[in-house]
Amino acid sequence: MKLHCEVEVVSRHLPALGLRNRGKGVRAVVSLCQQAPRTPPGPRAGGERGGSHPACLFISTLKDKRGTRYELKENIEQFFTKFVDEGKATVRLKEPPVDICLSKANSSSLKSFLSAVRLAHRGCDVEAPLSTLTPVKTSEFEKFKTKMVITSKKDYPLSKNFPYSLEHLQTSYCGLVRVDMRMLCLKNLRKLDLSHNHIKTLPATIGDLIHLQELNLNDNHLESFSVALCQSTLQKSLQSLDISKNKIKALPVQFCQLRELTYLKLDDNELIRLPFKMGQLRNLRFLSAARNKLPFLPSEFKNLSLEYLDLFGNTFEQPKVLPVIHLQMPLTLLESSARTILYNRIPYGSHIIPFHLCQDLDTAKTCVCGRYSISSFIQGTTTMNLHSVAHTVVLVDNMGGTEAPVISYFCSLACYVNSCDMFK
Ligand SMILES: [Zn+2]
Repeated sequence: MKLHCEVEVVSRHLPALGLRNRGKGVRAVVSLCQQAPRTPPGPRAGGERGGSHPACLFISTLKDKRGTRYELKENIEQFFTKFVDEGKATVRLKEPPVDICLSKANSSSLKSFLSAVRLAHRGCDVEAPLSTLTPVKTSEFEKFKTKMVITSKKDYPLSKNFPYSLEHLQTSYCGLVRVDMRMLCLKNLRKLDLSHNHIKTLPATIGDLIHLQELNLNDNHLESFSVALCQSTLQKSLQSLDISKNKIKALPVQFCQLRELTYLKLDDNELIRLPFKMGQLRNLRFLSAARNKLPFLPSEFKNLSLEYLDLFGNTFEQPKVLPVIHLQMPLTLLESSARTILYNRIPYGSHIIPFHLCQDLDTAKTCVCGRYSISSFIQGTTTMNLHSVAHTVVLVDNMGGTEAPVISYFCSLACYVNSCDMFK
């Protein structure tokens, strides 16, 4: 009987000596083995039940394949199983005085393993086939690799599954036209690199990878980034996104709900605008959107606080001198109620109001005064020096400029006049 997990054996003498454990497990195969009768393990038949000779615990790691043996019979002081559903448990032995901390195990395998260990402690017959005391093969460790890098089609696993324990998976230059569904079962995945493939759309189920922090889709055929993905659990986990070298024309408004993003690479797409609530990405530090078709930046861009910004090679327009006026006086009932909903942060959703109204509210324009407008506003363009939002700015054009046009909205004539005074 074997369990694949991470193990750390902590001596309980360490604190007395003023030492601390590393707090980090290593990949191991923990086996419940047949105890050899006095003599060292010989060529005994495997599969023998542990009735006559008590079972022992055997921990093998990649560095120590022969492993370390621990007696189990009447030797367990305590089990710590509070986090067994998360694949973690600790077995405290009497002799030697150590805590065997198991982690990153499959929770159901861990449960059955622990009950077998409990039986062995009581000296009962373990109702599971016991392993023999033989060194663990390197291929055993393969099964719970945490990192896999594939950079050519011929190495892509077609018949074999990806190891369940993968945390970092890269499959580049494999000619993938869609995301392999088997990848979406890798619940421990933190880093997924699918760069240099031919992927056209992303399944919303990528959002089920609850630990995913880094997603690299550089050099694919993506035409959009779906709203479903923006509203998935990626909101809580995704920190780094590279979708450069694709064919994306616009990102949805909801994109700005990916609040944990610190690194965003959008180079070499066909973006004609950035999501206008961009300023909500408060954690963003690195932003690169070079060689797109941006004519101007959204006004909320001013709220960003970046370390690095690259907007080179966009088609920025000269700011217009005259504003575009869309004011309605008096305000329509729709406009004033929408403004009130947004200003007072009244929750809304398509279960209460028609979907198109939700869209209007989602895309409301923010005035410099902090109020909102839907269809009654003044639109003006100004320029901003990009150094005001980023420490390092890659020049916007070949002329050495770091100024870019920004589009601004004003909810009333008063706000527009005030801001004009401010600019002077
Ligand atoms: Zn205003």
